[in-house]
Amino acid sequence: MIYFAQASDGMSSLMLVAKGDSIFDGIAALLAALGSILVLISYVIRATTSDLSVNTRGGVPYCRGCGKQVSYRRDNCRACGLSLYVAKQAPARDAAAIAALRDAELLNKEAIRKNAERWRLEQEGRVADRKAARASRLAARDTAYRSRGIEPGPWVWFKALPELAQAILLGVAFALPAGGLAWALFSAR
Ligand SMILES: [Zn+2]
Repeated sequence: MIYFAQASDGMSSLMLVAKGDSIFDGIAALLAALGSILVLISYVIRATTSDLSVNTRGGVPYCRGCGKQVSYRRDNCRACGLSLYVAKQAPARDAAAIAALRDAELLNKEAIRKNAERWRLEQEGRVADRKAARASRLAARDTAYRSRGIEPGPWVWFKALPELAQAILLGVAFALPAGGLAWALFSAR
């Protein structure tokens, strides 16, 4: 009986020939089949994760490192050892989608920044308006006092009172401490 199995992907070749009809020949055939499957799996993995990268002139592949002719059946250049495969590049549309997402994020950040800036300016405007309103209120009050011949100052509220009210307030202001003192002296006896 003859078993024959071969697998080849350029990186490795496997060839087993088993002759005869002993149990060992059967095992050898099984190993050959298993080897073929492993080589196939490694080929599929490489095909999905890497791309062949060689310079081709006239249908002949050349190493992109040293420029010597290479074989599709190998993984690396025989002259310089450079891998003929490179990691798969992300598809261009994915790169475009990522760029679009980044642009959208930047636009969003810019909008948030502009919003904050507008709010800050509005807030500053409100504070300035309040200050201006208070200043004009005080100026109007001072003008009103001056029109009555009273110079504005810390005691302007007292000076603006009628004379009778001023007298009563002064009397109370002096009588209260005096009365308190007298009460303290008499009650202490
Ligand atoms: Zn090379």
